[in-house]
Amino acid sequence: MGYVNLDYAASAPCLRSVLDAVAALLPWYSSVHRGAGFASTVTTELYAAARQEVADFVGARAEDTVVFTRNTTDALNLLAAALPEDTTVVMFASEHHANQLPWRRGRSVVLPVPASADEAIARADGALRGACSRHRLLAVTGASNVTGELWPLPELAAVAHRHGARLAVDAAQLAPHRAIALAGIGADYVALSGHKLYAPFGGGVLVGRGDWLDAARPYLAGGGAVRRVTHDGVEWANGAPRHEAGTPNVVGAVSLAAACRALSEVGMSAVAAHEASLLDRVTRGLCAVPGVERLAMWGPESPRIGVVTFNVRGLHPGAVAAALSAEHGIGVRDGSFCAHPLMTALAGDHAPEASGSAAVPLAVRASFGVGTSAADIDRFLFAIADLVARGP
Ligand code: PLP
Repeated sequence: MGYVNLDYAASAPCLRSVLDAVAALLPWYSSVHRGAGFASTVTTELYAAARQEVADFVGARAEDTVVFTRNTTDALNLLAAALPEDTTVVMFASEHHANQLPWRRGRSVVLPVPASADEAIARADGALRGACSRHRLLAVTGASNVTGELWPLPELAAVAHRHGARLAVDAAQLAPHRAIALAGIGADYVALSGHKLYAPFGGGVLVGRGDWLDAARPYLAGGGAVRRVTHDGVEWANGAPRHEAGTPNVVGAVSLAAACRALSEVGMSAVAAHEASLLDRVTRGLCAVPGVERLAMWGPESPRIGVVTFNVRGLHPGAVAAALSAEHGIGVRDGSFCAHPLMTALAGDHAPEASGSAAVPLAVRASFGVGTSAADIDRFLFAIADLVARGP
């Protein structure tokens, strides 16, 4: 019995072509921008090409800056650190902590979890209209890591721009499932992680408008981020190097770019179609199992990526996940998904809670992607039905 990985939303397994790209790079492993040495030249070229490939994958505008980071959390913290003074950031309580906590350090408005996509648009509209600061940013996710629901990004971009605000999209979950089309959506920034996009850990990116980034203090101070250093002064570089001090993670960048290339070759609409049929199969299957309660912000029919989060009445989520793993060889995630305010809002009265003073509701999340088959979903459904039949 092989292992079935239904935890793609945490980290998606590396694609073969990504592994190949890493294996091809390693013999040339060298620092970028270190003179005319052959390995450094090759590595520098690969790093630059990776930047362009990621820009193309997210549909960036020619003038956008592409900063390589460690992951989405790093990218959003970088942007938060680069906001001009007198910026108000508007966000929803439903965001992953990575798209809440960096903004909360400054002036921010946290909107309640909206009851529908229309309510999200109306609430963002009201909050941005009411913000009286000189600069405004709306920070939203592209797809919820808890419910998988897709956010109405073009509409939110239009609302933001109507009020002179910018839109930052946390695309950690969106990127593996849908084309991003930064320019087409009208978003100003996008952040994503390589390890959720079928690449290894350690590579991520922030793509977007360069003006705030060029005006900000460098995210890190050090070599590579400067044009010139004198005895007592420094002239910082502009563009991506300004925020990429230190020896960059070339393997992270090249593997992220290889994942972007592989997904583009398959086509994001083919990816979405494959996942839609799996989603239909898993939701219909779970509906047929008594005692399974799915979590949704906007109703079971709202468009979503390949993420299904649920509880089984009478069973602790940790016990469900452990039994799926130990008895059926199926890996899912259980917990509160770094989204405590959303889990609290969704919980209702009967959701299981973590013990201790900081009790947060818990659930089980199954998530899938390009490597998942209908047989994997059927095995999962069989396992859930088996657990339910045995009872608490
Ligand atoms: N945003 C969302 C929606 C996520 O699901 C995650 C990770 O689960 C993150 C941000 C943070 O990603 P990372 O841990 O790669 O920085």
